[in-house]
Amino acid sequence: MKTPFNPFEMAQAQFDKAADVLGLDPATRDLLRFPLREYHVAIPVRMDDGSVKVFRGFRVQHNDSRGPCKGGIRFHPHETADTVRALAMWMTWKCAVVDIPLGGGKGGVICDPHHLSAREQEGICRGWIRQVAKNVGPVNDVPAPDVMTTPQHMLWMLDEYETLAGGKYPGFITGKPVGSGGSLGRTEATGYGVVFTIREALKELGIDITKTKASVQGFGNVARYAIKLYTQLGGKVVCCSSWDQADQTSYSFRRLSGVDADELLGITDRFGGIDKDKAKGLGYEVLPGDAWIEQDVEILIPAALENQVTGETVKKIKPSVKVIAEGANGPTTPEADKVIQERGIYVIPDFLANAGGVTCSYFEQVQCNMNFFWEKDEVLQKLDAKMTSAYHAVHELAKKRNLYMRDAAYVIAVSRVAKACKDRGWA
Ligand code: NAD
Repeated sequence: MKTPFNPFEMAQAQFDKAADVLGLDPATRDLLRFPLREYHVAIPVRMDDGSVKVFRGFRVQHNDSRGPCKGGIRFHPHETADTVRALAMWMTWKCAVVDIPLGGGKGGVICDPHHLSAREQEGICRGWIRQVAKNVGPVNDVPAPDVMTTPQHMLWMLDEYETLAGGKYPGFITGKPVGSGGSLGRTEATGYGVVFTIREALKELGIDITKTKASVQGFGNVARYAIKLYTQLGGKVVCCSSWDQADQTSYSFRRLSGVDADELLGITDRFGGIDKDKAKGLGYEVLPGDAWIEQDVEILIPAALENQVTGETVKKIKPSVKVIAEGANGPTTPEADKVIQERGIYVIPDFLANAGGVTCSYFEQVQCNMNFFWEKDEVLQKLDAKMTSAYHAVHELAKKRNLYMRDAAYVIAVSRVAKACKDRGWA
């Protein structure tokens, strides 16, 4: 029988590889292979029909040697403790690779917001905070939005936290609405960050961006801003995909003359699902969910979920593909990764490519702490500078030591975190 995909085992295997390259000592390995702390909570919520439903939630703090933990909270019906552990570990590496003074954390609640009223979702947000409030906060662990959580959810969480703490702590949570402590540019940050790294990679590879095409998995926050900026820079996205809630499957939407993110946004539900019939009316072909990966393009951007480029789907990648920029967290399985490496496709690994979100969250924290908010251009310029220098550090190391890009990113991130642990006398 095939073993089910376990993202935490995958994250540990990736870490082990970097630990081997770095020759890490056994104590540091033991420390970094597992989270420092984790909380499993029950959240009772009074539902609209008067009944009480108990939701299960998590907060995992993987490592805080370089600063307070930072990481999103996801609402997902298939959330598992191991998914949250893996994501928390990836956050540690992500903050380290872009060199921001934060550690790695992640949260999750097993629930499906598609089937919950706004009031019930508010109940989950406030209930989750009541359960973890003693262990999170602006100086030890700062949550943020993630899959299926929104700025509104963050504001409910902040409000509950401030009620319990008896004061104003705008730096407690990031991804808040602009005007309520949020940063301009946060919405665009992850997708734009992905494209800043693509832009730099194409320069290194000697490829003119205006002569490239891309195909994207997903049409959520990351995907749509990646599509927008890449298009602005002269590239053409020919296909993107999304999850169809009614059919419980995904579809790919192809238009060889180019995907228009704004136009598609007008026919997309609030969960990033594109309306099939309306898309057909706009000249898009509606293809099976996996079709995004088998397009004749130079760039693939998986920006939906983990475990999407697998031993099976990797076979569908066309020879034209030169770059894979991982917008999502953990989209590529180790089996697929091996094939990609053998084929010499240039990978911009997830925790580097999608670090724009956490970088801008860090800017949000800084602005909240100063109580002084920057203009959008200033935020995006600072984001570009951070992403560009992080990308080049990884690329240079990969070149110098002949490492696969993912391994080079790991080597940089793990060595920074291992050093912080050592310097503090933890290992
Ligand atoms: P989102 O909820 O806004 O969008 C997800 C998109 O993926 C939606 O369009 C949805 O329809 C689509 N989707 C879901 N399942 C799919 C499937 N099986 N096939 C095709 N499409 C599917 O989420 P997001 O914020 O854009 O996040 C996407 C990924 O990027 C996640 O892995 C997330 O952890 C990661 N990420 C997000 C941020 C951020 O700032 N939003 C930062 C770093 C990493």
